[in-house]
Amino acid sequence: MEFEDVNSDIESVVLTKEQIAEGIARIAREIENNHTGHTPLLIGVLKGAVMVMADLARELHIPIEMDWMAVSSYGASTKSSGVVRIVKDLEISLEGRHVIIVEDIVDSGLTLSWLLENFESRQAASVSVATLLRKPDAMKVDVPIDYLGFDIPNDFVVGFGLDYAESYRNLSGVGVLKPAVYGG
Ligand code: 5GP
Repeated sequence: MEFEDVNSDIESVVLTKEQIAEGIARIAREIENNHTGHTPLLIGVLKGAVMVMADLARELHIPIEMDWMAVSSYGASTKSSGVVRIVKDLEISLEGRHVIIVEDIVDSGLTLSWLLENFESRQAASVSVATLLRKPDAMKVDVPIDYLGFDIPNDFVVGFGLDYAESYRNLSGVGVLKPAVYGG
């Protein structure tokens, strides 16, 4: 789905699909450089990271494995609850693996710092983080981001996997949702 398909709901375009593709290709080259000689395990955080994972995995010129985890997040609200709960756990053991967490967006960093701690306790050889988007608040907390697509302003965005009440995930770019859409 393109911006013109949902024009009246989007206030401004943050990233076009071409810019996203460039960002993902850049991340892929960095990952390739750091992971020669072993097969990293990419872990996507459902559901938002589905699009980033799909494009990143295909852009990588090295073998990888993939697994998925679902944790509770915003629900239909636009504010973080700070509560992390495992909704779907991993199927592949992390022991001795080089893990790359694949995220769509890091905002407060609460989800990520919880995941980092959880994965380290499962004896991973290394845990690094790739995220397409980072919001300003994420820089205030101590969450290491190894591979970053783009820093974006502190607005509520949708598209490329990011939803509002489960809609807009299939938008090919990322845009700011008009506050009127969520009653703001
Ligand atoms: P954090 O724990 O870093 O505050 O937030 C992580 C999760 O919050 C993300 O994976 C995403 O689901 C959600 N989130 C944060 N900012 C936005 C946003 O601007 N738009 C949408 N749709 N979700 C967001």
